[in-house]
Amino acid sequence: MATLTVRDLNVSGKRVFLRVDYNVPLEEQGGAMVITDATRIVETLPTLRLLIQQGGRLILTAHLGRPKGKREPSMSLRPVAAKLADLLGCNVNFADDCIGEAVEKMANALPPGGVLLLENVRYYNEEETNDPVFAEKLAKVADVYVNDAFGAAHRAHASTEGVARIVAKRGGQCAAGLLMERELKFLGEELENPARPFVVILGGAKVSDKIKVIDRLLEKADAILIGGAMAYTFKLAQGFKVGQSLVEKDKTDVALAALAKAKQRDVQFLLPVDNTIVTPVKTEKLDKKGRAVIDFQNPHNWTESNIPDAEEGVDIGPATVAQFSEVLSKAKTILWNGPMGIFEDKRFATGTNAVARAVVDATQKNGAKSIIGGGDSVKALNQAKLGDKVTFMSTGGGASLEFLEGAVLPGVAALSEK
Ligand code: AMP
Repeated sequence: MATLTVRDLNVSGKRVFLRVDYNVPLEEQGGAMVITDATRIVETLPTLRLLIQQGGRLILTAHLGRPKGKREPSMSLRPVAAKLADLLGCNVNFADDCIGEAVEKMANALPPGGVLLLENVRYYNEEETNDPVFAEKLAKVADVYVNDAFGAAHRAHASTEGVARIVAKRGGQCAAGLLMERELKFLGEELENPARPFVVILGGAKVSDKIKVIDRLLEKADAILIGGAMAYTFKLAQGFKVGQSLVEKDKTDVALAALAKAKQRDVQFLLPVDNTIVTPVKTEKLDKKGRAVIDFQNPHNWTESNIPDAEEGVDIGPATVAQFSEVLSKAKTILWNGPMGIFEDKRFATGTNAVARAVVDATQKNGAKSIIGGGDSVKALNQAKLGDKVTFMSTGGGASLEFLEGAVLPGVAALSEK
């Protein structure tokens, strides 16, 4: 059954408890906290406008940072209320708490189409513990529940799950916002019966983070292309030398099982045939975590299967890019999660950028549906200024990955069915 969405509602005159993702980056400037990127606020506007148009009375809840149950002034949502008012072009009331009588009064005084933003819900520890008493207090202002915060839906917190359960118990509707609807469509429905060939690109640091996704997608994909450090665990499992490359030695059995499953299911499973390798040299400098900063010296392309003992693989090479691009040029559906190398360093972003280009070409020239499954691949596409040239970019990090694994997200499970 499909999830109920805001399109199915008529919230005229009702108090709509709307969970949004306003976890925006803030910077202190001249004693005030200033929003440095308002994308997350902008993205909620269609949902807000739809509910305002219907005459709903909107009570917005969100978290900001990790205040760990304390009223941390630098993590107040007050600047967000001002920004939202600017963007919506209407008044946005702000309550300096998220529960209590004052909040209830403000919510009850809202006219149809009125908007109230509540203070950071994580000022209370009970939010993350999904405390039922706290959820009841939040739910006091909720006739209808809407969740538009996909990135927080993998957590069963009071505002993402508890309140929805209470509203549903009372017979109220719980719906997905427009953003959430898109996430469920592209990461869910579209991948259930994808147009073929369906090509999956996976990269990033660890096999262990993505093995469940690999396993699930091996049941659906026609081809899986592996890059990033993850590839070296596969190479190690196949008996090759990987030098100083980042690997998970205890995950080679998992890698071998995936390779065997690919063979059994006749899924094309491509690993890099060449790599950019470097000599990692420890410096005296320490990073934020107090670890020695590594200087990557002498980057060059390496076409042999075994990486020399003192060297490290940091990106896929040109022959691999050519192979991957060839497969992508025939794809009708593409799912990408994880960069092909240490893309944060410009010198090692070549592979990731080339794959981004191939994904964009397949989308623009061949009409392939390209779905970017969140996290660093989204960052990489934005960095290459190609974000608007793919079909869909997920806003969730951990939530996207869990959803792609096939997990039932608590924040989604709590929503009503159509
Ligand atoms: P993930 O969050 O699993 O998608 O991993 C993203 C991280 O993987 C990025 O910070 C990349 O720098 C890192 N990464 C990708 N390729 C490599 C590599 N060859 N060696 C080390 N780290 C890598």
